[in-house]
Amino acid sequence: LSGEPITAGAIEGLSQHFPACMLHLHRTLRQNKHLKHFGRLQYTLFLKGVGLSVEEALTFWRTAFTNTPADKFDKEYRYNVRHAYGLEGGRKAYRAKSCQQILTEHPPGSGEAHGCPYRHFSTDNLSLFLQQQMGIKDSAVLRGVKQDVDATKYHIACNRVFEYAHKEELKKMKERMGASASVMETIIHPNEYFVRSWELKN
Ligand code: SF4
Repeated sequence: LSGEPITAGAIEGLSQHFPACMLHLHRTLRQNKHLKHFGRLQYTLFLKGVGLSVEEALTFWRTAFTNTPADKFDKEYRYNVRHAYGLEGGRKAYRAKSCQQILTEHPPGSGEAHGCPYRHFSTDNLSLFLQQQMGIKDSAVLRGVKQDVDATKYHIACNRVFEYAHKEELKKMKERMGASASVMETIIHPNEYFVRSWELKN
């Protein structure tokens, strides 16, 4: 981002720039001190895309799993984090999942926090999450999100929330760029959401 390496301790502050899917994973991890396999995979690859090194990723997960003894962590979870970084097994360099992948692969079952809240939450849970976790109080935005979701346009709902959450910054950017301001491209990747949010707020 600013050229400085990203540390495990910085993730909490950076989570204000996360899209709903990653914020939900982050908050669930903080609450349960654990995430199930697909949640860990989705979040690990996203954080890798944010710029967390494998050492910092291991520190992040080890400190987040406070109820897990160190030897159990090393035995059961360390390998998967290193695997996601291409350091174990077939040594494949995995990339962060796109919205399309998150929306279509492995729908979350009970007790799982991966997936896309716009697609996988009930209408009521999504509305509560947007209000309580993302601070979206405007009823017109909430109604718009519901219409997008009803029309199965999940990423449009996500972009609607992004535009609302960054409306002041987007307005200033348009004023600065004047007539040359092009229409913002639709976000189709969680890491794109994060980078755009960070850039607008910094
Ligand atoms: Fe995440 Fe994409 Fe869903 Fe937004 S649309 S919450 S970025 S998966």
